[in-house]
Amino acid sequence: MQHPKHERTYVMVKPDGVRRGLTGEIIKRIEQRGLKIVALKMFQAKKEQIDNHYPKDETWIARLGKKTLSTYEKYGFDPIAELGTKDELTIGKMVRAWLVDYMVSAPIVKIVVEGVHAVDMIRKLAGNTQPSLAEMGTLRGDYSVDSAASANRDKRAIYNLLHASETAEEASHEIGYWLSPEDVCEYKRMDE
Ligand code: GDP
Ligand code: MG
Repeated sequence: MQHPKHERTYVMVKPDGVRRGLTGEIIKRIEQRGLKIVALKMFQAKKEQIDNHYPKDETWIARLGKKTLSTYEKYGFDPIAELGTKDELTIGKMVRAWLVDYMVSAPIVKIVVEGVHAVDMIRKLAGNTQPSLAEMGTLRGDYSVDSAASANRDKRAIYNLLHASETAEEASHEIGYWLSPEDVCEYKRMDE
């Protein structure tokens, strides 16, 4: 097992974060927490790159569809009237496509973060996927107002400022996908 001090995670400032000038704020909160940034780059992603970043397995896609369906149920919207189907997988594919369009709509910033329980700590700093449910004090809670109900109606992904790996496995896969080993720097923070 890896030492918790050296866990790495993958973060991307999404197009809304970049276009709202929140890149610095996101970096600041990561650094002030004591987590170490070991790689950083702004770039314009291509559709194919994003398409390969998000999982393609049906379990992941169906989960995305299920989340969307549960929002329709909660707020009393009819998925058939809104999207023409109530099939989890079909809806998951639609949301995934909205997500790809969103992620190539402007530059994004890739960041590798290292530190104690980095994966869970960054998820905590980010807050709930839906900004309307994210606690105050989290990035999504402090700086965004979107919800699934609103995004689904507009047929677009939820705008929630940043991507953050959910598990250590996802993190290591994403870091390997987006960066070469020489892109990741090794150094000690003064407080280490
Ligand atoms: P995350 O790990 O918190 O970013 O959330 P997920 O991995 O579940 O979903 C990936 C991204 O898809 C989210 O960050 C949102 O931008 C978008 N998304 C997730 N669920 C929904 C949904 O129900 N509706 C819409 N329109 N977008 C969604
Ligand atoms: Mg996710």
